Amino acid sequence: MTIRLASPLVRFSTFGLLAVVLPAAILAVLGYVSLRQWETSAELLFREQARDLASMTTEKVEMLLARAEDEILSRIEALLRRPDFASATLAEVAAAAPLIGRLYLVDRGGRVFFPAALAGEEAGVISKLLVEISQAFWERGGRRHVVVGDQVILAAVLKTGRGPLLVALSRNPEVFRREILEKTLRAVEGPTIIAVLDDQDRAVYARAPLEGAERIATAPFGAALPSWRVALYHPHGMSPRAAIRRQATVFTIAFGLLLVVIVAGLVATYRLVRRETEMARLKADFVANVSHDLKTPLSLIRMFGETLEMGRVTDEAALHEYYRVITRESERLSRLIDNVLDFSKIEGGARTYDIAPTAVEPLIRETLEAFGYVLAKGGFKVEVTVPPDLRKVPMDAGAVGQVLANLVDNAIKFSAERKWLGVEAEIQTGHLTLTVADKGIGIPLAELEKIFQKFYRVGRSETQGGRGSGVGLALVRHVAQAHGGRVTVESRPGEGSRFTLWLPLCRES
Ligand code: ADP
Repeated sequence: MTIRLASPLVRFSTFGLLAVVLPAAILAVLGYVSLRQWETSAELLFREQARDLASMTTEKVEMLLARAEDEILSRIEALLRRPDFASATLAEVAAAAPLIGRLYLVDRGGRVFFPAALAGEEAGVISKLLVEISQAFWERGGRRHVVVGDQVILAAVLKTGRGPLLVALSRNPEVFRREILEKTLRAVEGPTIIAVLDDQDRAVYARAPLEGAERIATAPFGAALPSWRVALYHPHGMSPRAAIRRQATVFTIAFGLLLVVIVAGLVATYRLVRRETEMARLKADFVANVSHDLKTPLSLIRMFGETLEMGRVTDEAALHEYYRVITRESERLSRLIDNVLDFSKIEGGARTYDIAPTAVEPLIRETLEAFGYVLAKGGFKVEVTVPPDLRKVPMDAGAVGQVLANLVDNAIKFSAERKWLGVEAEIQTGHLTLTVADKGIGIPLAELEKIFQKFYRVGRSETQGGRGSGVGLALVRHVAQAHGGRVTVESRPGEGSRFTLWLPLCRES
């Protein structure tokens, strides 16, 4: 019976590839593509929102400014309409409105009513302003912002009893910044930094430091603040791109971890499947080997029995030889059956041990006697070393005898040209050591641990001449451990092997 080791593993690997790695790869690609798309659309959306926010802010600032200017103008207009109008009251209005830098009152002929006296450059400002005011504006009345030098002046033509008068208001930049810009912009919430830039891109007002910040949108003001802009910035590392990159990193790490877990799971399952497949192969070999081992002695016994029954053999020596073959083969048969039965008892946890002080030397002698014929026939040189004063040691004599028989059987089986068998008993560090040594084919270093596993045989059974079940050494190790001891092996390919059973002299209960 042949079990192809590769097929389930190949199937498993293909399954792993198709069921896990392929979907994972597709998921990774899809995840990457959608992250890229998300990054682009999120950035567009973000910029659009930022633009909206900037223009809303400009509208709000302009509205507040217009409201403040309206209020001042209507107060001035009311004053001018009063019959008891005096310039002094105009000065009071100007003083009560800190947003006004300077207030001028000029008639169509260019006569300045207020203030009473003009400072040096003020006359220049007024004459420049008058140049900007068209006749139609004088006729029509109304208001507009006029840039004179670096100032923005609100010019309003008011109709009074004394004919049209031009009211000109310059702004106090500090008050404008504090009362209008700061109040409006402070209320705008969000992670973005909001700033107002002048015509030279200098920040007139900024809610937070702009170093390292990335500008994302600007919106210009109208005529009230010509060439000024509201600008929105991302603080350093807070741009939507950076945020998405961070998310992408988190996603990638999580995905990587998931992949690691999946791969670890696959590797674990692969190893399990491999172990199970190997076990199935070993079990199949075991059945084949045991059947073979049962058949060989049985057919020999039968053949020799039949020959004897026919009464054809009369020669005394031949007869003796036939009886010996039958005895030897039935011994081998019962050893094998004992091994298999004990092994199944061990597997089922039903093996019990009857431990009593046992003399070692007779145990070794009896075991070797059972192999006497095989050893003699194989031309083995047997060396037994047992100290004469060796004391009795607590053990299950039957189990240890079986261990010795297994070790001797292996030593015979795996001896090549050099037919030598050594059996030694010794007391070492609180243990009785029983060593079975040979000068046979030896065991490769990589196999030394595995040979004690159940069903395990070095190489395939075909290459070992077919004999053996692979449970002998598993049994040896189990017996050693049941006695509180252990089994060790030293071996070199081509040089031979030494198996040592260590049994404690005192049993700890
Ligand atoms: P088996 O019935 O095959 O002998 P064992 O469990 O007794 O089973 O041994 C397992 C394997 O260990 C053997 O198949 C053989 O490959 C190896 N082995 C055991 N004893 C020896 C030895 N003395 N020399 C070389 N190889 C050995």
